[in-house]
Amino acid sequence: MNSLRLAALSAALCCLFALPARADLNVVTTLPDLAALTKSVGGDHTTVTTLALPTQDPHFVDAKPNLALALNKADLLVVDGLDLEIGWLPTLQIGARNSKIQTGNPGYLDASRFVKVLEVPTAKVDRSQGDVHPGGNPHYLHDPRAALSVARGIEARLAQLDPKNASAYQANLDKFSAELEKARADWEKRLAALRGVPVISYHKTTAYLGDWLGFDTIAYLEPKPGIPPTPSHVAEVLTLGKQKKARLVVQEEYYPDSTSKLVASRIPAGLVILPSGADFRGGETYIQREERLVKKLEQGLAAPQGG
Ligand SMILES: [Zn+2]
Repeated sequence: MNSLRLAALSAALCCLFALPARADLNVVTTLPDLAALTKSVGGDHTTVTTLALPTQDPHFVDAKPNLALALNKADLLVVDGLDLEIGWLPTLQIGARNSKIQTGNPGYLDASRFVKVLEVPTAKVDRSQGDVHPGGNPHYLHDPRAALSVARGIEARLAQLDPKNASAYQANLDKFSAELEKARADWEKRLAALRGVPVISYHKTTAYLGDWLGFDTIAYLEPKPGIPPTPSHVAEVLTLGKQKKARLVVQEEYYPDSTSKLVASRIPAGLVILPSGADFRGGETYIQREERLVKKLEQGLAAPQGG
């Protein structure tokens, strides 16, 4: 009888201790890549949720009530910034009824402030120029150097909001940083052939990638940012692409691919569909996502070329 009771007691105790500890910080990010970076630094001390999925165009996310609900319980909101989320995030912030994550408060972190921003317009921007981001190009997460700066910024904010776990956040960051820098050296070696290569991009999402890897984006399939390709513009891009011997046509997964396919086959150039963000819900890390991106570029370079 006694031994039975002991067994039951130890079974109960085992399950009690196996219950997951409540995370110390509840973090919500706008983009899946930001979620992956936050989880690498926050580890077990954080619960991390992303508002946008990798399949969604981050310029246009449906501001559904369940997203506002996620923000209601957040201790920290991490955003890409530079007006990328301007079309949908402000509504959600208001709907969240959570003062912590309002712009300017410690629970609001704009990751773009840690990045050397490219393509900052020098003249006044107006709507006739399309969906131009007036603070500069917000598509910096393709560049692992920018991602590391962002991870450092996230670590500092986690430590500020949750000082008792600061040493754990620092250790996680050190580990992530070492892994990312090792991977980056490998990626740069594998993509050395991209230096100086002419590339056509669908949207202005290649600015930071080109800055990192040294290729030249010679034209965009969108006539203006956010405006879908038109036949006359595509004809111009095609002429230029043939003339300059473009090697790659690049776009993210969330754009329709028919125009890119057509232009790539006519030049001919390699077609590269870049992963738009980490499959965070599937457990993918930033480094694994970037590895997928590098592989796509490698495959594009290996495709039959016109030149
Ligand atoms: Zn954009």
